[in-house]
Amino acid sequence: MEMQELFDQARQIIPGGVNSPVRAFRAVGGTPRFIREAAGAKIIDTEGREYIDYVASWGPMILGHSHPDVVAAIREAAGRGTSYGAPTEIEIGMARRIVDAFPSVEMVRMVSSGTEATMTAIRLARGFTGRDRIIKFSGCYHGHADSLLVKAGSGVATLGIPGSPGIPPRLAELTISIPFNDSGAVGEAVSRFGDELACIIVEPVAGNMGVVPPRPGFLEDLREATRQCGSLLIFDEVITGFRLAYGGWQNLTGITPDLTCLGKIIGGGLPVGALGGRREIMERLAPTGPVYQAGTLSGNPIAMSAGIATLDILRGKSYPTLDAMAARLCAGMADLFREKGIPFRINRVGSLFTLFFTAEEVVDFATASQSDTELFARFFQGMLAAGVYLAPAQFEAGFLSFAHTDEDIARTLAACEKALSTL
Ligand SMILES: *Cc1c(COP(=O)(O)O)cnc(C)c1O
Repeated sequence: MEMQELFDQARQIIPGGVNSPVRAFRAVGGTPRFIREAAGAKIIDTEGREYIDYVASWGPMILGHSHPDVVAAIREAAGRGTSYGAPTEIEIGMARRIVDAFPSVEMVRMVSSGTEATMTAIRLARGFTGRDRIIKFSGCYHGHADSLLVKAGSGVATLGIPGSPGIPPRLAELTISIPFNDSGAVGEAVSRFGDELACIIVEPVAGNMGVVPPRPGFLEDLREATRQCGSLLIFDEVITGFRLAYGGWQNLTGITPDLTCLGKIIGGGLPVGALGGRREIMERLAPTGPVYQAGTLSGNPIAMSAGIATLDILRGKSYPTLDAMAARLCAGMADLFREKGIPFRINRVGSLFTLFFTAEEVVDFATASQSDTELFARFFQGMLAAGVYLAPAQFEAGFLSFAHTDEDIARTLAACEKALSTL
């Protein structure tokens, strides 16, 4: 069916026609592509057009779409029942893989989304420390739980203001919002609020304001600051977990958070999240401890099967090979932008990348916001018309998968050249 007609139908009965806002193309204009099917690095819309996909379902599809072994695992699991609401052996298999891959994780609880993982991590940090305040960084996204959907006020380390109607200002006030990469502001906030602070939560490599790497020493400073004031350090590795290495960013840097949130890749494309950490903290969760958390579909056997199949394939993959392909793609795009004389910055960490339409270095949300989003929107439309599906907003990461080939990279660069010629 024609996508415009589908979108019109969808908007009648689904707010904005979508079940997650950024899918609606509001930041770039036009009609969102309704997807019919996907395989490898390609997605195909309902009008039969094929695109090289750099969204990868916003990260999970690191093996590409419809990997045959993952599909087989899902089919096999579904044949034995889709949910029991009782413990299964396969949940031990998933927990074992996460514990083995993350040095800081001794116990793990499975949930059904990244949002649930971070929401539970915050509750657990508050329950464990008996404190209420939390620190987050502006531009970092941790799902849409009330305490985490909070914006910075004015100033360097500020009491948060609700990021959405429906969040009580009195709750948002408990979230202190700080610029990413600003250790000085962290020090300031900790000296003021340290004895009320339950945790600092951070994306160790920021991916939700576009990709922004941590400055050398920044995460170490967070570890030190939380240790000093007796609060917990939470790494939200929902994107970075199994994306930059088999394990997390913490494996590459040797920094040990108290709690780790996971999602996306560990579900192999099914709805999964997890939170893990030190035994003494995790045992505070119900039923061993008083901090309540539960889920009807948590540890769902089909989702666990997809996740385990994904992880077992990933263990045999070469991340440096994937990263090198991303580097070639970014270098090629940089050449084209330089030739064209359009100011740009490409931030890349492993197979995550963002092309910002700004001449200034992007180190936090304020510098990311300097990007020319109108120019981005035109570039996006040019790429889409040339068969490349980028995230439909400037402040997002691009995701390469193991299914992308050198030919895909060459075709993407040709599309980029074409898109730039229309700007
Ligand atoms: C996607 C994301 C979340 C939320 O995960 P959902 O499964 O969408 O709820 C949390 N944290 C980070 C860093 C994410 O990228």
